[in-house]
Amino acid sequence: MDQSFTMLNLHPDLVQTLTEKGYSAPTPIQSEIIPAMLAGRDVIGQSQTGSGKTAAFCLPILQTLQPGKKHVQSLILAPTRELALQVSQAMAQYGKKVGVRVLAVYGGQPYSEQINRLRKGVDVVVGTPGRLLDLIEKAVLDLSAVSTVVLDEADEMLSMGFVADIEAILEATPANRHTALFSATLPGPIRTLANRYLRDPQAFTMGPRQLTVDTVEQRYYLINENERMAALTRLFEVEPIVSALVFSRTRLGTGELANELVTRGFAAEVLNGDLNQDSRERVLQRFRNNQIKVLVATDVAARGLDIDHVSHVFNYDLPQDPELYVHRIGRTGRAGKSGIAISLLTPRERWFLRKIEAYTKQKMVQSQLPSEEEIQTQRDSGLVEKMMVWLRRGRCQRERDMVTNLVEQGHDANEIAAAAFKLIRSEEKQRPIMPLSDVREDRPKPARASVKRVKRATEIQTGRSSHEKGMVRLALDSGKADGIRISHVVGSLSHHADIPGQSIGKIRIEDRTTFVDVPEDLADRVLAQTKAYHIGRQRISIQRA
Ligand code: AMP
Repeated sequence: MDQSFTMLNLHPDLVQTLTEKGYSAPTPIQSEIIPAMLAGRDVIGQSQTGSGKTAAFCLPILQTLQPGKKHVQSLILAPTRELALQVSQAMAQYGKKVGVRVLAVYGGQPYSEQINRLRKGVDVVVGTPGRLLDLIEKAVLDLSAVSTVVLDEADEMLSMGFVADIEAILEATPANRHTALFSATLPGPIRTLANRYLRDPQAFTMGPRQLTVDTVEQRYYLINENERMAALTRLFEVEPIVSALVFSRTRLGTGELANELVTRGFAAEVLNGDLNQDSRERVLQRFRNNQIKVLVATDVAARGLDIDHVSHVFNYDLPQDPELYVHRIGRTGRAGKSGIAISLLTPRERWFLRKIEAYTKQKMVQSQLPSEEEIQTQRDSGLVEKMMVWLRRGRCQRERDMVTNLVEQGHDANEIAAAAFKLIRSEEKQRPIMPLSDVREDRPKPARASVKRVKRATEIQTGRSSHEKGMVRLALDSGKADGIRISHVVGSLSHHADIPGQSIGKIRIEDRTTFVDVPEDLADRVLAQTKAYHIGRQRISIQRA
């Protein structure tokens, strides 16, 4: 689409500046956003750095600006000082012919200069949320006449914990302002913010959705069948999950899984065939609004799911066919954002993995589940990170007073801080790290205790039988023809006579008879229980051979 800036109805002065900068045509986002903003629409731009989004919102602001007014007319919120500076410089450059007065405000700089500039008069303020709020609270930044507010890199601002600050700032602007929101991703909290503060926004996303698996990192973990939950909950500890879909083949599995995740503090809900249309819609809405972070779904229930912001897809168990696999993981990695698809599989399921790889023509990477130590370390650093947010913000007056009191009572500041950490992490009790054992390959490796049994089997095959020292030989009145197996003999004898399975010696199963060696000192005990022995419904009697 070849379009010129003039066709977007931009002022000739602005177009000339752009031409001088070497911009010959608007980028796609500019073609969409500029006319919408000029028409007074609120907009949502899903775009990354490099798309030309800065000019997309700067140009309409500059076009509608009335330079020289007393009040701030436009406000731009950016997550970092670097971005605030970058945007203010771009604004100044694009608006040099307009004579725009731009000020960047961010933390770590003395207030005096910023306050002086504000007093002299500024048309556009670009700032980080914390500093903007401070200036509002100091009554030196008056936003009552602002006509346009831009939230740049909104997802970054939210992930830095600025949501309350952003809301407070927006509340300080007139309700009839125009609002533009730019974000690389549109997770639930961003949508919530947009729903609350934008009026009928026009949304622009980068191109059609890519449903291929190119943007998805695919990993798999080998596990034992009975340790799927342990593996999943461990992964939930270390993965940077924004929101996740967990797929389970069975309806039954979904409930159990969601419960476990909820107990562990992850807002999870089930999406399965048991839900009626209304409940399903409600669950999906909660997921979109980020009120729930995790959806545990069956394939059938997830059909036609239109969800954009999934960071992780977990295949708790593998789907029934490779096409379903692609369908499942296509829920992540949308809109140019990378996604992570994780599959749990047992050694027996390897062949199916190869089948999927052949279908997708992509390799899945085998990864190692996090160890207990790694999870602990992650928990520690997560806690410190949360603490750092408050340390940076420094708005803990009440808490500081509490610490002062404790220090006055003679407690050491380090000890107080350590105790505070201990207190916070008491919730970790809800999240025990489930044990994992070594992954058993298809054929169970003989563990120490079962070596004897393997040896026995060999001896049966060779048909040899011999009395070991200290052992007596007993005869059972059943054999191969009755379907008797070594495991039956060991199981029944050890259970009813209450002797250790390992103490049982050689076993030879013949057609109608079975010979078994037991330690001499246990023989009477075994014989005393002869009426009790059963294999299935069949009674077995034992006597000395
Ligand atoms: P942004 O996505 O706003 O960070 O912009 C990325 C880069 O593209 C910046 O260096 C801009 O100067 C440049 N740029 C923005 N719009 C255009 C355009 N229409 N033509 C050429 N370059 C542009």
